[in-house]
Amino acid sequence: MDIRQVGVLGAGTMGHGIAHVFARSGYQVVLCDIEQRFLERALEAITKNLDRELAKNKITTDDKSAALRRITAVLDRGKLANCDFAIEAATEKFEIKAELFRDLDRICRPEIILASNTSSLSITKLAALTKRAEKVIGMHFFNPVPVMKLVEVIRGLATSKETLQTVCDLAARLDKTPVEVNDAPGFVSNRVLMPLLNEAMYAVMEGVAAPEAVDEVFKLGMAHPMGPLTLADFIGLDVCLDIMRVLHQGLGDPKYRPCPLLIKMVDAGWLGRKSGRGFYKY
Ligand code: NAD
Repeated sequence: MDIRQVGVLGAGTMGHGIAHVFARSGYQVVLCDIEQRFLERALEAITKNLDRELAKNKITTDDKSAALRRITAVLDRGKLANCDFAIEAATEKFEIKAELFRDLDRICRPEIILASNTSSLSITKLAALTKRAEKVIGMHFFNPVPVMKLVEVIRGLATSKETLQTVCDLAARLDKTPVEVNDAPGFVSNRVLMPLLNEAMYAVMEGVAAPEAVDEVFKLGMAHPMGPLTLADFIGLDVCLDIMRVLHQGLGDPKYRPCPLLIKMVDAGWLGRKSGRGFYKY
């Protein structure tokens, strides 16, 4: 099927990045969130990030205006009815995504693919809520979306080969590299990354080292471009906690227990970069 118009649900950190790359690659985008202020914040962020690409001569002024013109920001989910592909990038809570998938299944034409940008939740379970399980798939972008090359493509138990191929082709059209994985809690990326971040938080909680020292060890000793606590702040501590809980519950192993310091910081509203305070102040 020819994909021209793409629906993006959720206009937060990931949703606006996803809208950005689709619009920059020539797709019409319908970007949906639950409050006007989130849509406005997303459009501001997209404009700023396009300006950054302009300053680096990656795009022209015309490309920037054309990309912005292709994005329609909406509060009404029903406006996704004419989309040829939909991707959900809403808050990492199963109940929120479940409600969205049931509704998307009702709103969108039966032949279109419904993707989720979830970092850890079961694609198989989301698919089972729809009447098109073979057309439900994980399309997991990385933050910041306009910069990061990888798209982890997650095949649920019922996902068809055709759906997988279409989404891999789509990722390539966005100038990304798709990597196929099977459905399991946290897939590959967060199954391996999140326990590292969580353990770094335990090291801080137990007074083994300050956040700056933990991050220096990883930057200088392991050649990581950013230390685990800077990365956790960048991802969002609430998102990190949600993912640890999925790993803990889904895999049933106590080694995935979320660090109590992480829980406490999220309770305090210290969510990292997006709230102005996490392991560092912004
Ligand atoms: P975020 O909190 O920045 O944004 C989530 C957005 O979803 C918010 O604007 C919220 O208002 C919106 N939302 C909530 N319910 C909605 C609904 N019913 N309809 C439409 N919008 C709704 O979170 P984020 O970091 O952008 O994460 C979004 C998804 O992407 C999550 O599944 C997360 O696990 C995944 N993800 C995050 C990262 C990351 O680095 N932050 C990386 C890869 C994947």
